Amino acid sequence: MSSPTVNKIPAHVPPLDEVVKVLNDGLKKNFTNISVSVVDCPDLTQKPFTLAAPGLCGNARLADVGGPGFLLPLPQKDKKFTYRQIAESVGLPGAFMIGAGAGPCHIVGVNSELMKNVKMDGKGGVTKINSHIAKVNPKDGGCVLETIDKPEFSLMGNFLCSDGQPGKVIEVKASNRTGEENFMSSMRIYIFSQNCLFPMGSLLLLLYTNIYYLLQPDFSDKPLDSQEKVNNWLKFYEMDAILVCVGELVSHDPGYDLRVEHFHCFSDHGQGGHYHFDVTPKDVEYRGYFVLAESIYRIDQPVQTTQLGR
Ligand SMILES: [Zn+2]
Repeated sequence: MSSPTVNKIPAHVPPLDEVVKVLNDGLKKNFTNISVSVVDCPDLTQKPFTLAAPGLCGNARLADVGGPGFLLPLPQKDKKFTYRQIAESVGLPGAFMIGAGAGPCHIVGVNSELMKNVKMDGKGGVTKINSHIAKVNPKDGGCVLETIDKPEFSLMGNFLCSDGQPGKVIEVKASNRTGEENFMSSMRIYIFSQNCLFPMGSLLLLLYTNIYYLLQPDFSDKPLDSQEKVNNWLKFYEMDAILVCVGELVSHDPGYDLRVEHFHCFSDHGQGGHYHFDVTPKDVEYRGYFVLAESIYRIDQPVQTTQLGR
């Protein structure tokens, strides 16, 4: 595998207290109950999180790899990446990495959603891996959630990479959504109001709600060249709490074809996939832990991009 191109985009890291104030003031417009504070990161190796490292902290940075331009209108199945490549590309060979991507189609055999969750050992191998993939069951159209221990993926990925250490994180608790925007989008709107490039890596729990999530079925052999065709191809489901979501938010795209919001979920009840929206806003209850990233590494940016399927 040849080395992918890497562009490092520096970001602005404001003091945590400033971010807490902005989010507290902003999210009140979207949720009846909101509480934002700086806390010690809970031990994320424990249930319900089951992550590969105890915390989100230490040299936090985002990796935005490939993108929808490799999937649409037709998939470029030769676009495959190893976890090692990403860890080394962001300068953290021993990285803890969590986030949303496409499963390794050359290993799974079909297209799938990836929930990446790994701690690398610094020598090209992994210390701990608890990644999941979700795919469509061809027999009944249902969701199949599986763990996967092959440290590879295809097409795209949006990952928080850090040392995986305990430390201070921003905790956001939100319930009873009254605004139009979902939790992730409203977070992004208020961090965007800061007028600076502002990336955050996140772990999010959906404690009490049903959400819509989507799965990409196996690759289409016909070009998906309109949003209507993409929507007809995607499969939408309702999923039950408790869900563990891993992903990232970026205030805006300064011209690198960045994915500004991307979360995938897994659970211990067989459901998982790409977070789309919550279904029951009155009952919704989110708890998120966020860390501010110092930079974004744009890895293998597609030459041809698309706004479809985002
Ligand atoms: Zn996704």
